[in-house]
Amino acid sequence: MATSAGTLDITEVVRQVMARLKEVERSGRPGTGPCGVYASMEEAIQRAEAAQKKVARMTLEEREKCIAAIRATLRAHARELSEMAVQETGMGRVEDKIIKNNLVADKTPGTEDLITEAWSGDRGLTLVEMSPFGVIGAITPSTNPTETVFCNAIGMFAAGNSVVFSPHPGAKAVSLRAVELINQAIQEAGGPEDAVTSVAEPSIEAAQVLFKHPAVRLLVATGGPGVVHAALTSGKKAIGAGAGNPPVVVDETADIEKAGHDIIAGGTFDNNLPCIAEKEIIAVESVADYLLFNLLKNGAVQLKDRRDIDRLAEVVLTPEGKPSRKFIGRDAAVLLKAIGKEVPPETRGIVVEVEKEHPFVQEELMMPILPLVRVRNVDEAIEFAVEVEHGNRHTAIMHSKNVDNMTRLAREIQTTIFVKNGPSYAGIGVGGEGFATFTIAGPTGEGLTSARTFTRKRRCVLVDAFSIR
Ligand code: NAD
Repeated sequence: MATSAGTLDITEVVRQVMARLKEVERSGRPGTGPCGVYASMEEAIQRAEAAQKKVARMTLEEREKCIAAIRATLRAHARELSEMAVQETGMGRVEDKIIKNNLVADKTPGTEDLITEAWSGDRGLTLVEMSPFGVIGAITPSTNPTETVFCNAIGMFAAGNSVVFSPHPGAKAVSLRAVELINQAIQEAGGPEDAVTSVAEPSIEAAQVLFKHPAVRLLVATGGPGVVHAALTSGKKAIGAGAGNPPVVVDETADIEKAGHDIIAGGTFDNNLPCIAEKEIIAVESVADYLLFNLLKNGAVQLKDRRDIDRLAEVVLTPEGKPSRKFIGRDAAVLLKAIGKEVPPETRGIVVEVEKEHPFVQEELMMPILPLVRVRNVDEAIEFAVEVEHGNRHTAIMHSKNVDNMTRLAREIQTTIFVKNGPSYAGIGVGGEGFATFTIAGPTGEGLTSARTFTRKRRCVLVDAFSIR
């Protein structure tokens, strides 16, 4: 035990020096900042290229050991990363981000996702195996910054790739912290350094270097329409995970109490930042009032006065009617305060009844504002849901007990995810079956991405042997 202040100081200095030495030992590069993060995109790519040769030589068991370490580090740092993300971006809710980060740690598939196809017969044995692309360039969003970096890293590394991340500049610090933690975990588990890298100052210009670099074999863009278009026109093979505007349809057969609960749970989760979150409610007239009652019962408040709704729109939208960056992902209480209304900070969401054309309905707001549109019947509901999804083919949700109605919406809307009778997040494995992902590739059709998405299929043919039937 320390006996004087002087002894305490020395103990603290020794502790700090030891911690720094350990850090330097891990990164191998004293004074260069977090491991895996480089001053230029060119260097980040070169380092990842060298690392990929080592990753590709690792056995699946060795890769899996590294993935276990990545999962463990994410669980251990879930709170730190969630707090950092909310602080840096000003968006979302810490407790919800912790759930999202833990979901990635628990339910992102690893090497078990790499399935071999085989044919055997008189002329021997043919295998089709999933092998790495090489270096992947991954562009990640500000709305799920660490979730996307960790989720992509697990799947891409499991498949034998290395990854160069180009994170959103507005989520730079937290995304680079994620890169650092992943690198440390891989190295501690015996893997190579630089299996994931990034650049100290992410920018659109840095992303352009990634888009054009010959060493990058695949681009994976998670974000809005701009980045998906940029990736798809880059000349490289690209996977695009783009924007959505998920409608939630409630018909007259639904369990309205459950629908009210689930819509608030999904539509206000992380302040509506997830691309899969319920963005507008389409309710059949005969149940709309009872649904409203249940939405309010589950933690939302309603703005009834048209002047208040107009004022809110004026404040949270730009003059062009687009969501204002300043209000994306903010708490309901913050949005209401901006129009001079005080509500308890724990208020989950704001419900407004508006017409079909309202920007709250038409735009992907990513705010805990849930617009409700009343329609005559389920036919009109389905027709409008298809229209307002804008062909994103992303996500739709329905509350109904009528199988024909649910089948009809599923067929007509053609979304990548269709959740029935649950909150939207059941579609990525929270309270629903199936694995988790934060890169949902609607535009390019890969769907919910996982390790196998990040592979090239290669055929391996052995003639006249190993057919043992
Ligand atoms: P954003 O489009 O502003 O940015 C996403 C990433 O793309 C960032 O890293 C950004 O720096 C980069 N970027 C943007 N334009 C670019 C360009 N022209 N060239 C190169 N890079 C470019 O998105 P955001 O606000 O961070 O995230 C929210 C959006 O992402 C929403 O539209 C949401 O629906 C979508 N999203 C989709 C998925 C999915 O899986 N489909 C997941 C998360 C978010």
